[in-house]
Amino acid sequence: RKYVYDFAEGNKDLKDLLGGKGANLAEMTNLGLPVPPGFTITTEACQAYLATGAEPDGLADQIAGHLAALERGMGRRLGDPDDPLLVSVRSGAKFSMPGMMETVLNVGLNDRSVEGLARQAGASADPAASGGSDRFAWDSYRRLIQMFGKTVCEVPGEEFEQALDDAKRARDTTDDLDLDADDLRGLVDAYKKIFKEHTGREFPQEPREQLDLAIRAVFDSWNAERAMVYRRQERIPADLGTAVNVVAMVFGNLGPDSGTGVAFTRDPASGAQGIYGDYLANAQGEDVVAGIRNTVPLQELERIDRNSYHELLDYMARLERHYRDLCDIEFTIEHGKLWMLQTRVGKRTAAAAFVIAGQLVDEGLIDLDEALHRVNGAQLAQLMFPRFQLDHGFQAVATGIGASPGAAVGAVVFTSARAVELAGEGRDVILVRRETNPDDLNGMIASRGVLTSRGGKTSHAAVVARGMGKTCVSGADELDIDVPGRRFTVAGQTVTEGDVVSIDGTTGKVYLGRVPATPSEVVQYFEGELDPETTNDALVKAVHRIMSHADAARRLAVRTNADTAADAARARRFGAEGIGLCRTEHMFLGDRRELVERLILAREPDEREAALAALLPLQRADFVEIFREMDGQPVTVRLIDPPLHEFLPPLEQLAVDVAVAQERGEDVAKEEALLAAVRRMHEENPMLGLRGVRLGLVIPGLFAMQVRAITEAAVECTRQGLRSCPEIMVPLVGAVQELETVRAEAERIIGEVVGGSDIEVLIGTMIEVPRAALTAGQIAEAAEFFSFGTNDLTQMGWGFSRDDVEGAFFWRYLELGIFGISPFESIDADGIGRLVRIAAEEGRAARPGLKIGVCGEHGGDPDSVHFFHSVGLDYVSCSPFRVPVARLEAGRAAV
Ligand code: ADP
Ligand code: MG
Ligand code: MG
Repeated sequence: RKYVYDFAEGNKDLKDLLGGKGANLAEMTNLGLPVPPGFTITTEACQAYLATGAEPDGLADQIAGHLAALERGMGRRLGDPDDPLLVSVRSGAKFSMPGMMETVLNVGLNDRSVEGLARQAGASADPAASGGSDRFAWDSYRRLIQMFGKTVCEVPGEEFEQALDDAKRARDTTDDLDLDADDLRGLVDAYKKIFKEHTGREFPQEPREQLDLAIRAVFDSWNAERAMVYRRQERIPADLGTAVNVVAMVFGNLGPDSGTGVAFTRDPASGAQGIYGDYLANAQGEDVVAGIRNTVPLQELERIDRNSYHELLDYMARLERHYRDLCDIEFTIEHGKLWMLQTRVGKRTAAAAFVIAGQLVDEGLIDLDEALHRVNGAQLAQLMFPRFQLDHGFQAVATGIGASPGAAVGAVVFTSARAVELAGEGRDVILVRRETNPDDLNGMIASRGVLTSRGGKTSHAAVVARGMGKTCVSGADELDIDVPGRRFTVAGQTVTEGDVVSIDGTTGKVYLGRVPATPSEVVQYFEGELDPETTNDALVKAVHRIMSHADAARRLAVRTNADTAADAARARRFGAEGIGLCRTEHMFLGDRRELVERLILAREPDEREAALAALLPLQRADFVEIFREMDGQPVTVRLIDPPLHEFLPPLEQLAVDVAVAQERGEDVAKEEALLAAVRRMHEENPMLGLRGVRLGLVIPGLFAMQVRAITEAAVECTRQGLRSCPEIMVPLVGAVQELETVRAEAERIIGEVVGGSDIEVLIGTMIEVPRAALTAGQIAEAAEFFSFGTNDLTQMGWGFSRDDVEGAFFWRYLELGIFGISPFESIDADGIGRLVRIAAEEGRAARPGLKIGVCGEHGGDPDSVHFFHSVGLDYVSCSPFRVPVARLEAGRAAV
């Protein structure tokens, strides 16, 4: 079996076998770009090693063969004492993954070849700059021991850092360029001691042994803890394995005519065309991003090395045309000769993704379908939050993980209680914690944003904040938080309770003070306040163009969940094509509570009827308003769902009130009756109690009143010249008999109210109890439409209640990789999704043409939208703000 590929043998489509880095190095090689020669050990070799614990037969020989060819091509031998070939050993899986082994540079150096390297460097450099050739060689050697020790042999990296700092301090400098050859020689000795102390052996002098140990370490790093957790979360198969790239070294640290840099073919922040990147003269590898010295903007390279600069621009243009996308590039210049060390399709901000996709269509490189694939709903959602102004001039004092997007500004507080208190006084607060736990829930609700010094994208803070749509930066570990002292320190400054900070939940940046924020121009566009034809905002133009294409392409309709006319109006502006869920419970709140109390306390039928009769015109007026807003579009109204005691005061409060009033000798007959009712209606598990259709069957006249209000409102709208299309939805049905009973009464009322006019009122049901999904064929006999209530279906399918579990243990499940993502954020396709699939299939089999939608929050979640598309549903319905996201994703699912 062939385990090793020369760069000339691969190409960019072989990512499975060669990993991303290897496949792209091969592609550049074959494009004729100057890539240092090298070879890639395949993921299959890694898989074989991981399966058996030993390198597969033949691998060592194949490596030897490719190494020999490399040596012949370069005219040098690995680690040769007089003129050594050095190589880098670089991991590279199909997907880039945190936790994999970091690159080891300068493999092949030892006590003897370091001298040879110095002599060769001295001979090749121009005399003026060559004072550093000894320095260069010893610097390369110390880097090898440091990288090899840390990544291959797990020597704590801080020890090397410490020794380096000591050496610099002895020279009274902070710049590593001030260390001369002797200093570095001394540092090599110190590093070797550290190495021996931690590994119990000398630093390996045999070049091939260095190479083999590094390759094996790359294989082993596939199973590093962090990589495994990441894979579980991202559902990356555990057996893909990683490839290993062995690349001839080129040196950016040979003097001022050498250097290393990174480049982007467009601005990865805004998408603007131009030249973006950083360059650092006389430096190796990671120095550019490590921030040890100040880089210069890439444009300056023109002044430093004109030829290399223009050569690089030429390659950038070629790569971009070739990959038909933004590329990022790593390069090194050795004595004025440019070398390309890496390229890949580059990461970019949400705004840049849209702008670049639009530009590439203009440039004829991609078509609109492809443009649709280049963006996604998560990016669009990000763009719909307010954000901090560009060029605001503030310097971030810390950078954590952008865990939940948005731009939040407020006074810092360190406890949940203070958050609630200050928010109660009308102040904007940012809750700052090391990490949050379920006790912080109220504080999180009261805050504009949450900032933690620990934890990642799946920490408690992150998960709960995302669920609330609250801005969150997690894991800002530069913050030193002192909760009892009510302060934190960062970057040498102390921030105490009440000081204002600004946090950016997209970039993870933390600022001291009030950073000015701007509303989202994308929202202004959706609101109709920005005309995409006349604006010169490149982002708005690109969003408009791509959204229009998504709308033309999609098969799923998008409706909204809206309970009020105002929500309905906004959703319509955002492109909703109807209401998929209009909840009616808010219509029982406020002044109307009293009527609900009367209804509940009624002892005689006429008392109950009087209460219902009083509610009827109020509800009818609500519906008229909503139907008017949605003129011509369907409106699905859900009959009342929550248990009625939710409309009564809580038991403890009521008991206290009654006792106090009795004390005063007041007449408390009514309150006592209420108290008794509350006691009677108490439920251990309200979620599984008397609610939904069960209420309708137990409380005579309640559903009838609502059906009448809906139908009368439709008649009223028709009279006003509007067209209303009400759909009455019965919640929580588990058996067809429930629905049949409600339906019989509803049909009678509808017939009565509609009379001869041609108003059509549909009657259907939610599918949110697992039994309903499993008996959907029967239920469809009595339903003109289905709407999946995926929130309840998830709760009942998993047997957990959202309010109880999200804060209590989801973080742990996410950490363990049991969930890749909360099943409330994204539909659990294997389990709950299976119920959806069964119900859709069996429902349609029983009633061809059955209208089926989704009204859970999943309707606005990108992955879930793709799933519902694949099941063949007719529409999704989501909150108004999510409507554009659903439109975009429905389009993406269809092309
Ligand atoms: P990462 O995946 O973290 O980017 P890389 O394998 O790209 O790791 O390498 C880390 C750094 O070392 C990069 O700056 C890269 O350009 C540099 N590098 C890697 N191989 C070589 C080489 N053969 N010669 C010079 N620099 C190299
Ligand atoms: Mg790299
Ligand atoms: Mg429900």
